[in-house]
Amino acid sequence: MIPIDFASRLFSLKDRVAFVTGAGSGIGQMIALGMATAGAKVVCFDLRDDGGLTDTVKFINENGGHAFSVAGDVRNASDLKKAMHRTESEFGRLDLAVNAAGIANANPALEMELEQWQKVIDINLTGIWHSCKAEAELMLKNNGGSIINIASMSGSIVNRGLDQAHYNCSKAAVINLTKSLAVEWSKNNIRVNSISPGYTATPMNTRPEMVHQTKEFESQTPMKRMADVKEMVGPAIFLASDAASFCTGHDLIVDGGFVCW
Ligand code: NAD
Repeated sequence: MIPIDFASRLFSLKDRVAFVTGAGSGIGQMIALGMATAGAKVVCFDLRDDGGLTDTVKFINENGGHAFSVAGDVRNASDLKKAMHRTESEFGRLDLAVNAAGIANANPALEMELEQWQKVIDINLTGIWHSCKAEAELMLKNNGGSIINIASMSGSIVNRGLDQAHYNCSKAAVINLTKSLAVEWSKNNIRVNSISPGYTATPMNTRPEMVHQTKEFESQTPMKRMADVKEMVGPAIFLASDAASFCTGHDLIVDGGFVCW
């Protein structure tokens, strides 16, 4: 038999400590807020300690939760180490992490210079590697945890009409980095999974080359719409929580059916 509140306990993040990169905008911001509503204390990390990042922390603290911000760049391993030191000194431990910091842009491969290629790889792939490593080191002090990397359906498919070989490759690599770390760290009780969003209405999709493509994205998606950013919260809470205690190395595609076509 199971306790009568089994399901709500399974999905609760009460008293867990979470670290979220990209918490100043879009998917990372909404997941940080969502994890706070499930009871987690949240450390919010992004490039600048103003604007969106300040809003995320303010919203959580004003609504009875606990959060603070750390500014840094996921390309710098030392920024992430410093963030882990602050997490440990202020909240005492780390249980959960969501790595959502990322960038996107487009350019035909034949016209792309190395600099453009490298920046996307450095942030979207090496940044996730630095993040996972720093997070796992702190989680190890407390018998493990759960890490969620935000990949993309572009890690499994090529988006129609978007020339972004560098982005697609970075996301395919994040999916396999996730599986590789899941296997390596299973002995350490650290679960590592990814979420691969489909087209989601965030500032990333308002970049200049996307403005005329929103309608196209909607018509290419079986559910005929883009995701509301709040629709990424449930999958993140699921993978972070005890409800996913036997899930590791999984890529959860949240795309309104896009990759089925
Ligand atoms: P967003 O631009 O709204 O948010 C990204 C956040 O990452 C920003 O706050 C930005 O400041 C931060 N960031 C960028 N570079 C950073 C760095 N070097 N160090 C620290 N922080 C940095 O974008 P979003 O749509 O919320 O995207 C979040 C993640 O989801 C990205 O990895 C993106 O590739 C992925 N994704 C988005 C979509 C979509 O349709 N929006 C679809 C699939 C995957």
